[in-house]
Amino acid sequence: MQGSGLLATMFLPSLLTRPACSSDGLSPSLNLSKCTTAMANSHTRIKDDCLNLLIVGGGVIGLACAKELAESGHDVVLIERHRMLGSETSSRNSEVIHAGIYYPPESLKTELCIEGRARMLAFSRARGVRFSLCGKLIVACTEAEISALDQIEERAAQAGPEIALQRWSQTKVRSKAPAVRAVQALWSAGTGIVDGHQFMHQLRVAAEQAGALILPAHSMMSAHSTDPGFEIELTLQQGPSEQHYFDAVVNAAGHGAVQVARHVCDAVPEQIAVKGNYFAISGPAPADTLIYPVPRPNLVGLGTHLTIDLAGRARLGPDVELDADSNQMAVSADRLDAVWSAARHFLPSLRRDQLMADYAGFRPKLAVDRFADFHIGGDDAPTGWINLLGIESPGLTASLAIARRVRAQLDQL
Ligand SMILES: Cc1cc2nc3c(=O)[nH]c(=O)nc-3n(C[C@H](O)[C@H](O)[C@H](O)COP(=O)(O)OP(=O)(O)OC[C@H]3O[C@@H](n4cnc5c(N)ncnc54)[C@H](O)[C@@H]3O)c2cc1C
Repeated sequence: MQGSGLLATMFLPSLLTRPACSSDGLSPSLNLSKCTTAMANSHTRIKDDCLNLLIVGGGVIGLACAKELAESGHDVVLIERHRMLGSETSSRNSEVIHAGIYYPPESLKTELCIEGRARMLAFSRARGVRFSLCGKLIVACTEAEISALDQIEERAAQAGPEIALQRWSQTKVRSKAPAVRAVQALWSAGTGIVDGHQFMHQLRVAAEQAGALILPAHSMMSAHSTDPGFEIELTLQQGPSEQHYFDAVVNAAGHGAVQVARHVCDAVPEQIAVKGNYFAISGPAPADTLIYPVPRPNLVGLGTHLTIDLAGRARLGPDVELDADSNQMAVSADRLDAVWSAARHFLPSLRRDQLMADYAGFRPKLAVDRFADFHIGGDDAPTGWINLLGIESPGLTASLAIARRVRAQLDQL
């Protein structure tokens, strides 16, 4: 059994039961023995078509890449600095399976969200990951907001037939969600919710079944190019470091990705950590579907919305807190009034005393004043290095498609 402690049991209890990489769990030295033929002072590839790959980061993106790349025949090692996989942003989101509605039609966010959603649903069905296509209403609460629905509808139509939105009247909204105020709405039947922890667990299982080595509690300390390949300094917890050779590196380190990239890249875009606070609603959920306001222009997020989880609990959020200290994971309780006020726009009977602090997450954003797409590429790094930056929402939904994109880039090496 690997991993223990409060953090571990809080986030991903199901992962605790799986051995990390050897039957004795975390050993005092780095556990890379399975792949030593390909690394550790050997600067040659095992096979011409098979790379010896390091993935840095064990969130949903790193795990999806590990599955995809191991299944395509590469020798994969994934390292995660925490004892628990997926305990950063991947455990602190809305767990919404997005349909791809909001982003520019030609963007990676739209393309990979649509593809990733289809892959996520197929994978979840095959592996027994719990999800629900509970649908989502984007509500215009006043006549003046209807034009925003028109724009969303038009953009979604350009993005593709997969995003099938329906226009709903006030009467129809009332029959579905009586507590919601709306003069009109867009209904997205393809939006849903997923058990993100179970999804990540199954990604790990699939990756390990395909031969990937998943190493929690291992950090990347430094890297330098050996052309070909990379010499990487790794540590197990606070132990001594070791150097290992890899043909290629996938940097899926989330909020740590810029720091990881800087070891080999000079020109790396900055990421801005933008906090999102969630407030749980006590008592019965006000609706059995997701309720989103129309996004206001220049909004950093999608607007404070109502989500439900698979247990039927409801929460509001995430809000947008710029300039928050990214080490403060606790909910900023002083945001409650603003969230309550925003929510009463579409949930007029919501009482303040129904809300309580739930959890918070930080978006790794590449811009706060304009649209910024997912960033998947080598930047100015030597061949074989791929950075994944700005992987904010809809990164969970898009994860399996992002992994496909990474694989396609590596296939070109
Ligand atoms: C508030 C919020 C709500 C969201 N809601 C949704 C949603 O409803 N639907 C959706 O599709 N998406 C949503 N997202 C986006 C989604 O959560 C992210 O895109 C996704 O979780 C990013 O995963 P990741 O693996 O890139 O990052 P992470 O989960 O942060 O994983 C990166 C990992 O890298 C590790 N790491 C960093 N540096 C090192 C190092 N040097 N060595 C080893 N390991 C390292 C970290 O410890 C971390 O575990 C939301 C995001 C936020 C913030």
